Amino acid sequence: MLLFLHPDSTDQTGEAILSALREAGVEGRPITGHPRRVIRLRGAPPSLDWLRGLPGVMHVIPAQRPFHLALKETPEQKTTIRVADHTIGGAEPTLIAGPCAVEDGDELMTVAKSLKRSGAHLLRGGAYKPRSSPYDFQGLGRAGLEMLARAGRSVGLPVVTEAVDERSLDEVVEFAQVVQIGARNMQNYALLKRVGTCGLPVFLKRGLAATLEDFLLAAEYLLELGNNDVMLCERGIRTFSDHSRFTLDLAIVPRLQELSHLPVFVDPSHASGRRASVAALARAAIAAGANGVMIEVHPNPGHALCDGPQSLEPEAFDHLAEEIRLLATVRDGQLAEKG
Ligand code: PEP
Ligand code: MN
Repeated sequence: MLLFLHPDSTDQTGEAILSALREAGVEGRPITGHPRRVIRLRGAPPSLDWLRGLPGVMHVIPAQRPFHLALKETPEQKTTIRVADHTIGGAEPTLIAGPCAVEDGDELMTVAKSLKRSGAHLLRGGAYKPRSSPYDFQGLGRAGLEMLARAGRSVGLPVVTEAVDERSLDEVVEFAQVVQIGARNMQNYALLKRVGTCGLPVFLKRGLAATLEDFLLAAEYLLELGNNDVMLCERGIRTFSDHSRFTLDLAIVPRLQELSHLPVFVDPSHASGRRASVAALARAAIAAGANGVMIEVHPNPGHALCDGPQSLEPEAFDHLAEEIRLLATVRDGQLAEKG
């Protein structure tokens, strides 16, 4: 278990905490050389609330493993990531949109133009698709990456696409501005280590059964290797609920915003699996404090090779983009002023 102290805490604060721990029969060891003043605990404290109540304590992380780069040093700390002329994690909500998979160059070009007009900041599209069934469309591979890069260049949108293994990562680095690590690979630590040194910002999706701690530890792999440009994306988790494809865990959004300095995204397309639910969940995500959303958009969802039922048509995305901008203004303006 780790205790993070407020950055302005003094040596006396640290000493007082260590002595309170000793009295409670808990051994506390300051992690030396750590700028944030972190104390690692051995033994069982009276309770988490007791620890949180000690003067000078900012966070309590019930983890055995070291886990600190993904966490805030101060409540205000925010990571911003510059991609082309847009700042992710900045004042404007980030809109990432595009088809689930790259299927056809001309069609992609058409949808990319429309998304650009609607104010999207990044074009998405998978060329390597991690599909549940081996019989489903697996993506166009390198040819798909070429189409994606061409469409992005032609309309002036940076592109984000998924790497599923180390080989596809090398290709993604050639063509994309942001690499996506999908839910199924969130705990592929060999891949995360390669991504940590790949030089591109990372769009990291939460695993289907990952706790908040698992999710932040996956980000920690990337940060620890020097890649500070990490975005976290909640995309729905597996629960007993069967009315939607996954269960969108919106509660993780304020929790991540509270604990981590990394920008937080929501993908309501994969979470719901239903076109009719996407806009409502995207609006809810922004209201809950997300820095942006990732939305699947297809010009002809009925004919999509992948995830058609959850894909919006370009006009619907245009409308949603407007709503998101408006909601973010309310959230960050009037609501913020009311405290
Ligand atoms: C995707 O974004 O196309 C995708 C496969 O997402 P996830 O990894 O969240 O299932
Ligand atoms: Mn998809």
